[in-house]
Amino acid sequence: MFLFEKCFDLDELARRNLHVHTRFSSCAKPEMTLEAIVREAERAGLTDIALVDHSNVEADGSSTPVPAHNEILKAQRAALDTPVRILIGSELSALGLGRYSETPENMRAMEYRLFAQNHYHLSCWEQPEDRSPAGYARHMIAVLTELFRTDFCDCVAHPLAPVKLRIENAGRVLDEISDAALGDLLAAGEAAGSAWELHSGAICGWPDFARRYFNLGREIGVHFHMAPDAHRLAAVDTAPALAEYRKILL
Ligand SMILES: [Zn+2]
Ligand SMILES: [Zn+2]
Repeated sequence: MFLFEKCFDLDELARRNLHVHTRFSSCAKPEMTLEAIVREAERAGLTDIALVDHSNVEADGSSTPVPAHNEILKAQRAALDTPVRILIGSELSALGLGRYSETPENMRAMEYRLFAQNHYHLSCWEQPEDRSPAGYARHMIAVLTELFRTDFCDCVAHPLAPVKLRIENAGRVLDEISDAALGDLLAAGEAAGSAWELHSGAICGWPDFARRYFNLGREIGVHFHMAPDAHRLAAVDTAPALAEYRKILL
């Protein structure tokens, strides 16, 4: 579901940070308490933030109890006096074709459902049979296409970026995705009510692809969300990411 108006103005998009991890994500710094995040968002002049702690199923079947953490965050939010709008959701896992880390009930209870489909470095993630760059490109597109047949996805996290992919020539994954295939995927996400991240790690890591993705997305008319993927307080402010985005995307 779209939560914000369609917008291609980077300054306007940067008034929201829609990818923030709290200390409930093991990868985030202990300083990431809700109160500290909100005070930093106020200082940076943000209008909205989205809290998206990880929901990963591990090989032994255990999972991070995001719904329980979210109840704690909701109680903390109720006690805070702030003009910043706080969405409480999760960075959910599309672990494979039609395989998701949370139950439909848990997903429906979330205010913002961000989906990662490329955490291939985790043991719980499905790997494609063909582990070549072209095989990974086809797998990512297939998993997202399947996800867009549901109404769960509010936004795609770091789309298609070969994050920590442990194969030779991982960067070539993105060369295997044609403009036509990328355009079809962006349009499918838009038709499913899903936005697409402008994710700082993905943009700075793969700038040529990022430029292609942003320009095709503008042509097609998709929704973009600003996503510095904050794991520490300094990344709550979107200004440093915005400066990079201007250089790379425009
Ligand atoms: Zn991620
Ligand atoms: Zn994240």
